[in-house]
Amino acid sequence: MRLGNAGTLPEDDRLGLFALRIEAGRIAQIVQGPAPRDDLPRVDAGRRLAMPLFVDIHTHLDKGHIHARSPNPDGTFFGAREAVGRDREARWSAEDVRARMTFALRAAYAHGTGALRTHLDSIGKQTGISWPVFDEIRAEWRDRISLQAVCLMPVVSVLDAPEEFERIIGQVRRHDGLLGAVTFLGEKPDAKLDAALDRMIEVAKIEGFDLDFHVDESDSPDARSLERIADALIRHRFTGKALAGHCCSLALMDDEDRARVIAKLAQAGLNVVSLPMCNLYLQDRRSGRTPRWRGVAPLHELDAAGLSTMVSSDNTRDPFYAYGDLDAVEVFREATRILHFDHSARPWLESVTTRPAGQMRLDDRGFLAAGQPADLVLFEARTLNEWLCRPQPDRRVIRKGRQIAERPPAYSELDPLLA
Ligand SMILES: [Zn+2]
Repeated sequence: MRLGNAGTLPEDDRLGLFALRIEAGRIAQIVQGPAPRDDLPRVDAGRRLAMPLFVDIHTHLDKGHIHARSPNPDGTFFGAREAVGRDREARWSAEDVRARMTFALRAAYAHGTGALRTHLDSIGKQTGISWPVFDEIRAEWRDRISLQAVCLMPVVSVLDAPEEFERIIGQVRRHDGLLGAVTFLGEKPDAKLDAALDRMIEVAKIEGFDLDFHVDESDSPDARSLERIADALIRHRFTGKALAGHCCSLALMDDEDRARVIAKLAQAGLNVVSLPMCNLYLQDRRSGRTPRWRGVAPLHELDAAGLSTMVSSDNTRDPFYAYGDLDAVEVFREATRILHFDHSARPWLESVTTRPAGQMRLDDRGFLAAGQPADLVLFEARTLNEWLCRPQPDRRVIRKGRQIAERPPAYSELDPLLA
C-alpha cells in the first residue's frame, strides 16, 4: 500500500479504505474496501489513517539532549559548533553517550520510527568512544529500530590527519557504517576540497561504503561545495549510494546556476535530505533582526529533476536545534509548512518513508504490503488535514500486530546527566 500525496486538501488526499488481515504478527493480506465477511476476530480501526513505520535518515544521536547543560549561546550555527565542541570534550563518556542515545531512541520508537541513521562526531578521542557505544545500541535495538551510523568530521581532515582518517575507516568498516564529512565550514571550495573528496570516494569505492555529507549549511555565497561533490562522484563513476544533507545555499543561487547544479546532482545520483526544522532555527539568525528566509534546500526543484528527496529530524534538543523528539510526524508536519508540501501533486509522504528507506538500502521498508511484519502507526485522523493539524500524541504504534505500550521517556530521567 503506497501512500498518496501530501496535499492537505481532502480532494488531494488520494487515501483509500483498506482492510488488513494480520496473522502471526505479519500482514497476510491487504484488501481494498471494508473487511470481508469471515470468521476472523476483527478490530474496527474506524477509518483511521494507517501509516508504515517512519524512516529518519539524518539525525545526531550523539549530540542529542545536551541542551539544558550546553545551550547555544546565541542561536547561530557558530554558537552551536562552539557549544557542542566544549560539551563533547568535557562530557561525552561512553556512559553519557549511551544514556542520551537510548533516551532518544525510546522516544523515536514510541513515535513510530522503524529505521534511523545517525551521524557520529568522529574527532580525536571521541571516535573510539561513540562508535563502540553505537554498536552495542544497534544490537540492543535490532528488533525495534534498524540503525546506521555515518562518521562526521571536517572533510579536509582526511588529508590533514591521515592516521586519524585510517582509524575512522576502521570504525566505519567494523560497524557497517557510512563515510561522511562536513564539506563547508565557511571557506570557498578549492583544490584541497576536491583532493579530500577524491580520497573519500576512493576509500568508499574500495571498501564498499555509501556516502552521506553535510553540505553548504549556510546562506553564504561561498557555500558552493555541493557541485564539487557531484563533480567528484561523476569523476570517479561512483555507483554506491550518496546523500547530501542541508544544501541550504542552493536555494539562494541564481536560477541558471541552480539548474546547472541540480542537473549535475541528477547525473551523479546524489540525493538530497532537507532538515527543515534545524534550518529554520539556525539559518538567517541575527540578534535583533527578524529572519527573512526559511533556510531550506529547493526541494521542489530537486524532486522535479528526478532526485530522491527526503526530510529528516537532524538535531534533537542540542545547540544545533533546541527542540524536537525524533518524531517523524513532527518533521513531516513542519516540512509541509516550511517547504510547502501542501498544494503539491508530488508524493511527499515518500520523503519520510520509502525514499529514506531506499537510501538506507532497506528496500522492504516504508510501505505496507502483504508478507511484511504488521508494523504500522494508527492515527486519530481520517484525512491528511486532520493528521497534520494535531501533534498526534494519541497515535497507536503497532509492532508485529500488537500495540506497543511504550511512551516517550520522562525528561526527568535525563536529570543525572545534566547536573
Ligand atoms: Zn546534521
